[in-house]
Amino acid sequence: MTEPRVLSGAPAAAHLLERAVSIMSTLPNKPHLHVIRLGEDPASVSYVRLKDQKALEIGMDSTVHALPENTLESELLTLISRLNRDPRASGILVQLPLPKHINESLVLEAVSPDKDVDGFHAVNVGKLWSGGEGLFPCTAAGIIEMCKFYGIALEGMSVVIVGRSNIVGKPLAALMLRENATVTVAHSRSKNLAEVTRGADVLVAAVGRAGLITPEMVREGAVIIDVGVNRVVLEGKNRLVGDVQKAAYARAGAYTPVPGGVGPLTVSHLLLNTAIAAQRLLEG
Ligand code: NAP
Repeated sequence: MTEPRVLSGAPAAAHLLERAVSIMSTLPNKPHLHVIRLGEDPASVSYVRLKDQKALEIGMDSTVHALPENTLESELLTLISRLNRDPRASGILVQLPLPKHINESLVLEAVSPDKDVDGFHAVNVGKLWSGGEGLFPCTAAGIIEMCKFYGIALEGMSVVIVGRSNIVGKPLAALMLRENATVTVAHSRSKNLAEVTRGADVLVAAVGRAGLITPEMVREGAVIIDVGVNRVVLEGKNRLVGDVQKAAYARAGAYTPVPGGVGPLTVSHLLLNTAIAAQRLLEG
């Protein structure tokens, strides 16, 4: 059996950033990304810092609105409304999860669809499924770009996505359909999961359960996209692992490692979305 190909995220992510920079070079002003964070959840703090740093690194303007955990919903909505009206604000992202006293869907719907760089607004979700041009969720869109970057054909392929979240699984299903793949979406209620996943030419695991995908669940030579990020203790050390067992990678033709696979694509696609949003806002 030949060694599987490792699909590293870094070069594909760098390619997305080059596209963002190339769009920026045609604009009269730098795009400006606004990220709103409530509270001090360590994971959110670190994700937001990464987005801010990367934006600045490629020459974008970036502002982090770090608000206290007990910020009122009305205060948050006022800030979003101000940014919606600000012609210099190109992208608005509200870091999830939000504290329990805030109505998440109300907040996401308050962001102007034209500045919704996370692609979570119903208008963008509608455009995604109806084949229109919009802003689409970054991890899912990043995965498609990664497949293109590595020359992985999707047209006509059987793609099985395990996980149906609004953030990853569902938007990826829509984007895979747009690429003319034959798409199956599995979830926690799916029966005979192994039988379903064995039918995949491209198997995407987006669940958040370490080791869920075993070697028996993978067709030999399949492409595995492991989106899962799970913190586990291995040999006394904290480690990040995906949803797919290492032994299952060995059966694949190609796979994305964790860490270092899908991870870097999300932020890069966010910045590409911000550059695209700035360009479209200018064009009116
Ligand atoms: P989520 O909202 O918790 O959704 C998990 C999905 O997995 C749900 O659809 C759930 O089914 C399904 N599921 C749970 N247990 C299952 C099982 N035993 N068999 C089959 N399906 C099962 O998670 P998410 O936000 O989509 O994230 C998924 C993973 O991707 C997490 O590890 C997250 O950290 C990671 N992630 C990585 C990136 C990145 O940039 N690399 C970005 C986003 C997320 P039900 O719908 O039936 O409950």
